[in-house]
Amino acid sequence: MNSQPLAGRVALVTGASSGIGSACALALADAGAAVAVGFSANRSGADDVVARILERGGAATTIGADLSDPAAAITLVDTTVKELGGIDIVVNNAGITRDNLAVRITDADWDAVIAVDLSAAFRICRAALRPMLRRRDGRIINISSIAGVVGNPGQANYSAAKAGLIGLTKSLCREVGSRAITVNAVAPGFIATEMTKVLGDELLAAVTATIPLRRIGTAEEVAAAVRFLALPEAAYITGHVLHVDGGLAA
Ligand code: NAP
Repeated sequence: MNSQPLAGRVALVTGASSGIGSACALALADAGAAVAVGFSANRSGADDVVARILERGGAATTIGADLSDPAAAITLVDTTVKELGGIDIVVNNAGITRDNLAVRITDADWDAVIAVDLSAAFRICRAALRPMLRRRDGRIINISSIAGVVGNPGQANYSAAKAGLIGLTKSLCREVGSRAITVNAVAPGFIATEMTKVLGDELLAAVTATIPLRRIGTAEEVAAAVRFLALPEAAYITGHVLHVDGGLAA
């Protein structure tokens, strides 16, 4: 078996300074891809991911860009191409929450979540698709959420953004499929990261009881799904939403 099926490929992973994004960066690097590790605030987390990739003999670089800024998408894609020589795989993973009941969500909290979780992903797809369309090859993987599939009280902004990512995924799949570019979404359920830590032990225990597999998932389990969608073996899978949620959306 080829242990480096992504050798010679370049991947951009946004929000790769922690959690699911860093696990994706490490998994893609282990499969042989050179990885652009996107971050905004957590430079040391991103540096640590790059150091781990280099230690294992891989290639990686950090790219800082605040995705609430519309210009950041172009910076990320252009810098990836300049520093790593191209862009073959994009993992739109960066995301934030600003949870509240809908009647209390401020315009600022609505706009902030839509900007980072949805608009930035669109802009990155738009910028990365240009070189992918020219080469007639590419993989886009958007990290959605179970909240974008079934909805969640207290997360109207986040659910709307994550459902929007699924719509974006399906439309792009139809637009670019003729050029052998695949576009898929991964919809994690509850995964142990900083994002879920804030929910507290009591709420997490209550949630766990409703998960068919009776446990919270790991970032590495989400990364395994992302890695699979980037592999040559997944070339005929596009427009799909892959649930990594212990059966929660079943
Ligand atoms: P996390 O550890 O908080 O990671 C979030 C990442 O997004 C960080 O690397 C962060 O980078 C980056 N980010 C945040 N704001 C940014 C901005 N303005 N510009 C650029 N990057 C920004 O959370 P996580 O759980 O791994 O989440 C990763 C993705 O999975 C998110 O899209 C989330 O919605 C999705 N997800 C998570 C779960 C879960 O249970 N954990 C479930 C479903 C979906 P910096 O810290 O460097 O700013």
